[in-house]
Amino acid sequence: MFGLFKKFCSGLAKTKQRLFQTLGSIFRSDKINPANLESIEEALYTADFGVETTEEIIAQIRQTHKENKNFQQQDILSITTHVLSRVLQGSEGRLPAPVDIHSSPEVLYLVGTNGSGKTTTAAKCAHYFQQQGRKVIVGACDTFRMAANEQIHTWSQRLEFELVASQHGADAAAVAYDTYKAACHRQKDLVILDTAGRLHTKEGLMKELVKMKRVLQKQTENLSEHTWLVLDGSLGANAITSVQRFHEILGLTGIVMTKLDGTSRGGSLVGIYRQLQLPIYFLGLGEKPDDLQPFSSEDYIRALLGETREN
Ligand code: GDP
Repeated sequence: MFGLFKKFCSGLAKTKQRLFQTLGSIFRSDKINPANLESIEEALYTADFGVETTEEIIAQIRQTHKENKNFQQQDILSITTHVLSRVLQGSEGRLPAPVDIHSSPEVLYLVGTNGSGKTTTAAKCAHYFQQQGRKVIVGACDTFRMAANEQIHTWSQRLEFELVASQHGADAAAVAYDTYKAACHRQKDLVILDTAGRLHTKEGLMKELVKMKRVLQKQTENLSEHTWLVLDGSLGANAITSVQRFHEILGLTGIVMTKLDGTSRGGSLVGIYRQLQLPIYFLGLGEKPDDLQPFSSEDYIRALLGETREN
């Protein structure tokens, strides 16, 4: 098993385990009947794949079973795999290749609600992109949460990335500006900005992010910006309203889903992508620096449905 796929498997183990509690018993039974179709449906809902995708999978199982006398219980997995692959087509976020040294640095904003994993993701992303050969600098723009500065500082020492920070309570847009300027002077090509957590319902706080973006947009023509929403995977599909609101106000360009290792609702990614078609860049599959992995829809689906038939 390759390292990356192994990470997906261990990070998604809880969702898979829960899914297979039901599917496993259906594989042992001899027939598809209305009762076990209902159980499959319930298992798909529990994994949080969303109403549309679940209904599509169930309809296809029903149809294939009707048409094919040789229907095998394992066909349930291939149908589910097929539907998920189709829904997730185009979902893998691809960062543009590193910009050349003479152009201005790219900016990556990490936004989201409190505790969703932004600070941790900022550090892990810095580590990931440095390993890819990018010249990274991180701005500690979460000047609101007491521990955030200290937390990102500890990460910067541990993972050896450069950091621009200010006092607790400082203007976040000013920290973003200082970080951007430092990036230009030190010839960095990627600025990662950790921002304070906010609820999508707090208009004032949302406007702060808009201001931060405006300040940096003034620094150069055609600033290359990425605005990723860091989503707590354990919230499941309930997060959709907040994603929509962040998207309306900030124009999100991607999603990072964290804490998938701690939930059995790891299927929510499918419904969120289906509804918003925002590319998924990374998955948080654990607490270690390299537990943040670039999203691969194939590995994601295989880790949920593949190989082990029963758990
Ligand atoms: P912020 O408020 O959005 O900056 O959230 P933090 O980055 O402080 O993260 C909140 C908590 O979630 C911390 O205890 C992190 O260690 C934890 N966390 C973040 N990402 C992951 C993940 O992918 N897996 C697990 N298990 N924990 C995570």
